[in-house]
Amino acid sequence: MAELLPLLRCPACRGALTVASAGLTCPACPRTFEVIHGIPDFRPDPPEGPRHGDFCLEVIRRWLDSSYRELWGLYHREEGDALQRLWDKHEAEAPQRGARRWEQIACHAAAAGRTVPMDASALDVGCGAGSALFALARRARLAVGLDILLTDLLLAKKRFAEAGIANVAFVAASALELPFAEQSFDLANATDVVEHVPDQERLLGEVRRALRPGGLFFFNSPNRFTLLTREPHVKLWGVGWLPRRWMEPYVRWRRGKPYRSKRLLSLFELRRLLRAAFGPHFAIRSLLPRSALARALVRPFEAIARPILPQHNVVAWKAEATEGIREEK
Ligand SMILES: [Zn+2]
Repeated sequence: MAELLPLLRCPACRGALTVASAGLTCPACPRTFEVIHGIPDFRPDPPEGPRHGDFCLEVIRRWLDSSYRELWGLYHREEGDALQRLWDKHEAEAPQRGARRWEQIACHAAAAGRTVPMDASALDVGCGAGSALFALARRARLAVGLDILLTDLLLAKKRFAEAGIANVAFVAASALELPFAEQSFDLANATDVVEHVPDQERLLGEVRRALRPGGLFFFNSPNRFTLLTREPHVKLWGVGWLPRRWMEPYVRWRRGKPYRSKRLLSLFELRRLLRAAFGPHFAIRSLLPRSALARALVRPFEAIARPILPQHNVVAWKAEATEGIREEK
């Protein structure tokens, strides 16, 4: 928390914060922010209902005296008999998943001619229970996990405490109102996040603001118009080809569940979004499909097949002061 405090700002007015008995206060606004088991809570008030749901309150109550395994069991209690299997799989793979994320960042950054700064301060936007954060914490000086779900953060915090990883901090906040000073981070990551926020332009603007000059932002973006995979959240073919207002009723008809908080971008839309936030300072690398057959079919046409490849990986960077604006090739 001591290292985090100088980076924190009031999400409403960007004022510096001071420590008060109830948590953090913004003398300029004035607003106060609760700190729950060391996690400052900057989330906007929900449109209706209490700030913390019943389940969240239960996790808060049990947090001090419970292990990560116990809290995790609480979180997944509806799994019943599958719980142990899920735990084995989930826990066995989490650090490796994290490590892969770091390799992806380094590899895509290198292809764009950028290097990931050493001794970085890193931000994981939408960190959830924290798998990419494992990698960031291992390589960076300070890794900050941000999420809108407080329960996920409480689990993540317990998990990292038990793993003896001390250079992480957690912040509950909206990704559209980052509670950080300008130029706080050298690196930002967002795993499976950008397609879920209601205002993607604002998210990118906020991340750019929080980055230092030369700082990198890495994220993945499932392609709306892929012909090679199903829609990744509902596992349906062709959803992205429908007009946006037809997607919800179509998914509801086929899957019997709502299709909300998902906005997959086409390559064109992604480029437009990036240009608005980062000017020419970004590179998009597309991911080939997983199946060996599809890969073999696509590879010769990779360059022209990009608009229909399943996923795009993006490295964007904030220009150094000395870096002139040049047009994207
Ligand atoms: Zn304020």
